Amino acid sequence: MCGIIGYIGKQEAAPLLFNGLKRLEYRGYDSAGIATLDSGLHIKKEVGRIDDIHSKLNLTDIPGTLGIAHTRWATHGGVTKTNAHPHVDCNGNIAVVHNGIIENYQELRNSLDSSNHQFKSETDTEIISHLIEDTMKKGYNFEDATISALKSLEGSYAVMVMNKDERKLIAARKGSPLVLGVANDGYFGASDIPAFLEHTKDVVYMHDFDVAVMSDEGLKILNILDNKQVDRKIDTIEWDIAQAEKGEFQHFMLKEISEQVDTVQMAVQQDKKIIDDVVNDIKNAHGIFFIGSGTSYNACLAASYIFSKINKMHINVVLASEFPNYGHFLTPKTLVIAVSQSGETADVLDAVKSAKERGCKVISIVNVIGSSLTRTSDSFISLNAGPEICVLATKSYTSQLALFTLLSYALTGSYDEGKAKLTYLWNVIYQLTSATMRNKIKELAEKLKGKNNLFLIGRGLQYTTALEAALKIKEVSYIHAEAFAGGELKHGTIALIEKGTPCIVFVSSENEKQIISNAIEIKSRGGYIIGVSPRNNEVFDFWIKAPEANSENPIVQIIPIQILAYQLAVLRGLDPDRPRNLAKSVTVN
Ligand code: GLU
Repeated sequence: MCGIIGYIGKQEAAPLLFNGLKRLEYRGYDSAGIATLDSGLHIKKEVGRIDDIHSKLNLTDIPGTLGIAHTRWATHGGVTKTNAHPHVDCNGNIAVVHNGIIENYQELRNSLDSSNHQFKSETDTEIISHLIEDTMKKGYNFEDATISALKSLEGSYAVMVMNKDERKLIAARKGSPLVLGVANDGYFGASDIPAFLEHTKDVVYMHDFDVAVMSDEGLKILNILDNKQVDRKIDTIEWDIAQAEKGEFQHFMLKEISEQVDTVQMAVQQDKKIIDDVVNDIKNAHGIFFIGSGTSYNACLAASYIFSKINKMHINVVLASEFPNYGHFLTPKTLVIAVSQSGETADVLDAVKSAKERGCKVISIVNVIGSSLTRTSDSFISLNAGPEICVLATKSYTSQLALFTLLSYALTGSYDEGKAKLTYLWNVIYQLTSATMRNKIKELAEKLKGKNNLFLIGRGLQYTTALEAALKIKEVSYIHAEAFAGGELKHGTIALIEKGTPCIVFVSSENEKQIISNAIEIKSRGGYIIGVSPRNNEVFDFWIKAPEANSENPIVQIIPIQILAYQLAVLRGLDPDRPRNLAKSVTVN
């Protein structure tokens, strides 16, 4: 996830772009860059946070009233100045900024005559400028060449493109967000409204496959599916800049929960070659460990159930902090998959160190490229979730689950089927994060906000969801929440159930009978039963409908409880983005 912004109009572009970038920094902050046009094309870019780059390069001192800018969260190619956007063609005439992943960029690179094109970066993005260059050389104008390039792209993109010889700004989207701003003296395009909200509240939401061409003469939008001009209405935004950093959301936690509609899709947009390599490593390993801490550990545990069921494979799941105790079993044939959102979790880094000392191969699953974990692992897979600002892990958890599930499908030779199923989940996640669902869960939070104890049960994959759900509730609402496998509560803890004790029960079609019977046992001791289930049941005092999603149930079923945890925190007067005693990445042992 990156942030992009562009401007064409009467004002100097650089200061507007710079301020916009700062408002988009939550979407990516490993590097940034700006390109502007006056008599020529000017580019400044560097690795680092925007303010640091600005003190070094003075990003506002770059002339022109047309420009594009980018704040990067690397997916393809390391965090280097060369890989930072904007990217240009061979002659430096066409500049591009991009948010998303071009899945067929290698194929497209190979299709261009290599003697005619020199690629400078390792990014997927750079292909776009060369494709436009190539088509323009064949006599096409800038606009047609850009449309032709866009048509050949697979994957996702929000792009903004400019060309040294013309005062035109072209913006297009497929799968990544992009919105236009219509100001009195010009046009903006950006990944998110806050980037230009101080200049205009009039916006046009781009649809997938829309291409907007902005010039001093006006704005036109085409849809490349049928090459016809389309009429997109101008909406006026009600909220103002003070609320804008978190968009329409009061807290980053809720924003990030809602982003899961996109991030689960982003997680499965991977370079197929990387997935194939990991699949081979899994097949060739003698002994496999999944390791992580906190939420990442819960994702590892869920993954071990999926691999057991779908791949008939035994995975050792170990807490990163406990992993050094397993040193005796490690050999150079052992494969370790280490999971960490930040890639800086000290316990995970130590575990990886001990695995490397024994000669094991280490693959990591991380959200922050360029982090210590990506550097110390033999290879890594990126979650592509964009920065997670709230201390609690929400979107990174479902991205980890999506990625593990994709690996499991790939291992059975069903990569495409898995990818399609996981991509389609957006539909379900959209419902689960809707305002209607949030209001319904708020009703539940009202009932639970005064409680001191809460239990959660599930069987199989639902047990792992119960563990993660309990962690969410504890971390942010400070209510004591404890998870059990459905069959376990009666082995002791059921003694704590008294009249009104809440118990959240996660149900799947597969284990419905057994878990409902556990719920009945709790209810008969006075428990208040909350069902997260595809179907209602008379034992439930409160039902949250979560459609049956089989191996994808963990992704679906955690979402209502993330929302519940959030609502509980708010109703108890707590700040969900900054829970007490917790830090985003635990860099100490
Ligand atoms: N794939 C592009 C890059 O790595 C854009 C990244 C993104 O949007 O997340 O530079």
